[in-house]
Amino acid sequence: MEEKRDFSDLEREVIEKGKCALCGGCVATCRLLDYGYLSVDFSEERPVIREGQQCPPDCGYCYYQCPRVEKPALREGLEEMYEVVSTDEEIRRACQDGGAVTSLLAYALEDAIVEGCITVVDKGEWKPEVQVAMNKAGLIKGAGSKYTPAATLTGIADAILKYDLWSAALVGTPCVMSSYEKMLVVGRGTHNAHNFSSHIKLRIGLFCLGSYSYEKLMKGYLEHEHGIDISEVTKLQISEGALHVYAGEKEQLSAQINEIGDYKRDGCKVCEDFSGLFSDISVGNNGTPEGKSSVIVRTDFGKDIFEGALERGYIEAKPIEKSGADLIHRLMKEKKEAGIAEKERRKKLMEQLK
Ligand code: SF4
Ligand code: SF4
Ligand code: SF4
Repeated sequence: MEEKRDFSDLEREVIEKGKCALCGGCVATCRLLDYGYLSVDFSEERPVIREGQQCPPDCGYCYYQCPRVEKPALREGLEEMYEVVSTDEEIRRACQDGGAVTSLLAYALEDAIVEGCITVVDKGEWKPEVQVAMNKAGLIKGAGSKYTPAATLTGIADAILKYDLWSAALVGTPCVMSSYEKMLVVGRGTHNAHNFSSHIKLRIGLFCLGSYSYEKLMKGYLEHEHGIDISEVTKLQISEGALHVYAGEKEQLSAQINEIGDYKRDGCKVCEDFSGLFSDISVGNNGTPEGKSSVIVRTDFGKDIFEGALERGYIEAKPIEKSGADLIHRLMKEKKEAGIAEKERRKKLMEQLK
């Protein structure tokens, strides 16, 4: 019989190898969650076990949950692509692009499809914090990309244990979606003590080219190197190969993406998923003009939500232009290839060091 693995194996195989995506899945599924046994240390950007504690001998929930130990298998799905814009002016003003994510969530909340939405807000100085939004104001607070890790799946525990929700939407990067998929396929009834997997009804994945170390990008690069007051920044946007930093209408900085390459988290360098393949609906800003969102409907349930939001007038949509679809496919391919190449590079390096 295979020896049971535990957190020390997760540490050795994933965290210390620079593969951790900081999705928060291991924390949310820790068997001793109620005792705060496993948590995320945001200063180190890694999951940590409480000092001096030992895991129970028959556990390993965290290890088997982790999508970086073993990827979930991809299921056949749809791939319908649209160019979308929110019909709500307040949402459009607050959002990065077309406001599609916020409007789809607003529809799901107002139509009682979900009771709350797990998203990420800026808790000050662009430090990301997971929140459970229950209304439009909460959704607007969570609008816009943060580009630094939030361990979003820890929000599942909050949604269920703190707010007692029976049904929630989960918004996150592709790694969060794949970790949630692990909860569905591995967790249900086995290693997930709280059976969280049955509470998420809607999964919205966000296009992602990488997440950056908060200390390196926000403090080191923006604040110290460029003298930008982070508390005045109102929008961060990575588009067309550049990072754009705004304070109100004024663009404070536009930097080529390769200039901040060193600040990308190691776990992101081995990532192969750009578009959130394990989502019901994927959303991003690549492939559509400014002020619009690209939306990919991936499941039948995602289609119901998309069509419901369309029929009820929350969004306007048209099929994406071919050039937009081609760009998204190219980014998907390039990210997959880059992730595989980085894994190969690390493997060779390890062999040389043996
Ligand atoms: S899930 Fe189990 S093995 Fe993992 S950290 Fe929690 S108690 Fe330890
Ligand atoms: S990738 Fe996610 S589940 Fe794996 S160690 Fe990192 S935070 Fe935990
Ligand atoms: S690049 Fe991959 S691991 Fe990093 S935040 Fe995006 S989806 Fe997650």
